Amino acid sequence: MGTPQHTSVGIIGGGPAGLLLARLLHRSGIDCVVLETRDRAYVEHRQRAGILEQGTVDVLRACGAGERMDREGLVHDGIELRYDRRAHRLDFPALTGGRRVMVYAQTELVKDLIELQLGSGAPLLFEAQAVAVEGADTDRPLVRYTHQGREHTLTCEYVVGCDGFHGVTRDAIPDRARRTYERDYPYSWLGVLADVPPSCDELIYAHSDRGFALFSMRTPTVSRLYLQVPNGTDPADWPDDRIWDELAARSAIDAPWKLERGPLTAKSVLPMRSCVVEPMRYGRVLLAGDAAHIVPPTGAKGLNLAVADVTVLARALAQRYETGATELLDTYSDTCLRRVWRAEHFSYFMTTTLHTEQDQSPFETRLQLAQLDRLAASRHASAELAENYTGLPLE
Ligand SMILES: Cc1cc2nc3c(=O)[nH]c(=O)nc-3n(C[C@H](O)[C@H](O)[C@H](O)COP(=O)(O)OP(=O)(O)OC[C@H]3O[C@@H](n4cnc5c(N)ncnc54)[C@H](O)[C@@H]3O)c2cc1C
Repeated sequence: MGTPQHTSVGIIGGGPAGLLLARLLHRSGIDCVVLETRDRAYVEHRQRAGILEQGTVDVLRACGAGERMDREGLVHDGIELRYDRRAHRLDFPALTGGRRVMVYAQTELVKDLIELQLGSGAPLLFEAQAVAVEGADTDRPLVRYTHQGREHTLTCEYVVGCDGFHGVTRDAIPDRARRTYERDYPYSWLGVLADVPPSCDELIYAHSDRGFALFSMRTPTVSRLYLQVPNGTDPADWPDDRIWDELAARSAIDAPWKLERGPLTAKSVLPMRSCVVEPMRYGRVLLAGDAAHIVPPTGAKGLNLAVADVTVLARALAQRYETGATELLDTYSDTCLRRVWRAEHFSYFMTTTLHTEQDQSPFETRLQLAQLDRLAASRHASAELAENYTGLPLE
C-alpha cells in the first residue's frame, strides 16, 4: 500500500476504536486513513477484553461487522457474585427489560474489522507510527508519521486519536486546555488463558479475603481467568499449580462446585487504573477510546466505551459532511464524557467492592460484604448493577 498524503479524517490507531470508526465512516462515504504502529499479527493477537454490551453488539451488527460474532459469540444472560462462601446470580434480562451481553474476544472483533477494512479497499497502514499531530486549531491539522523507515505527512480535515493510553494525539491538546483526572489502585490482575472448557456457564466475580478472582471464558473450550495480585507481581512467580490452587480457594462456596484445570497458554499482569482526559475535542483533533479514558477492567467497560465514543463521533462527522453543520461535533466531548464518567463510577464501584487491599481492616471487609448482601437482596440494587453492566443507552 502507498503512503497517502491527504484524507478527510486521519485516524491514529488500529485498535477497536480506530477500526470501527473507519468502518462507520466508510459506510457514510467519508474517506479516512488509519495509521497503526504495530504489525497486523500483533494487533490481531493482543489479548484484552471480551465482554460486549448490548449496545456494542447492536452497533457491530448494524455496520455489517457482526456476522462471525453472531455465529461464534456466547450470549450471556447474567453473572454470578460469590462472597462469604455463597453464590448469587443476577438475571440480566429480568432486571433490565431484556438486555444481555455477548462474550466475544477483542482479538476476534479486531480481526473481523481489519478484514472488512482491507476488503473495502480503504487505507489501513500497519507499522505506521504517528510521531506528532500538529495544527489542531487550524482547518488543516496534520499527522507526522513514519512508515517503512521513512517520514511522511498526512494532512487532514479532522484527526482522531484512537491511539490508546500511550498514544501521541493527546499531546496535540495544549496543557492549558487539558485536564487529567486519575487514580491508581494498589493491586493488579494476573490474567491467564487456559485450554480447558470453562467451569461455569456465566462469569463469576468472586470476593474473598484472599483477594478477588474472575472466572470468564473466550470460547466453549478456552477459559479466561484472573487473580488479584499485588502491583509489581512477576508472572514467573506464579507456576500453573499455584494459580489453579488460588483460583479454587477464592471461589470456594458451601455448595457443589468443581473448577476444571487445564494447560495455561498465556500469563500476563495488568495494572488497574482510572483516568479521564478532558476535553475529548480540541479544534479539529478529537480523542476516542483509551486515548481519552481508562477504566479498571472489573466492570468490562473499556472496549464498550471505545465503541460508544466512535459511534457518537461517526454520527457527528456524518452530519458535518452531509449538511455542513457542526452541532454534533461541537457537543461530542460533553456527550461522551457523561457516559464516560458513569462508566468510571461503575468500574470504580465494582473494583472497590470486590477487591481486598493488603492492609484492609475487618470493618472495611464487613462494609464490602454488606454491599454484596444488598446486591443479592434488593431488586433495585441488582437492577442498578445489571443496567450498568449490560450498558446504558448510547445517548
Ligand atoms: C492488557 C489489557 C487488558 C485488558 N483487558 C480488558 C478486559 O478484560 N475487559 C475490558 O473491558 N477491557 C480490557 N482492557 C481495555 C480494552 O482492551 C480497551 O479499553 C480497548 O482496547 C480500547 O480500544 P482502543 O481502540 O481505544 O485502544 P487500543 O486497543 O489500545 O488501541 C490503540 C491502538 O493504537 C495504536 N497506537 C498507539 N500509539 C500509536 C501511534 N503513535 N501511531 C499509530 N498507532 C498507535 C496501538 O498499537 C493500538 O493498536 C484491557 C486493556 C489492556 C491494555
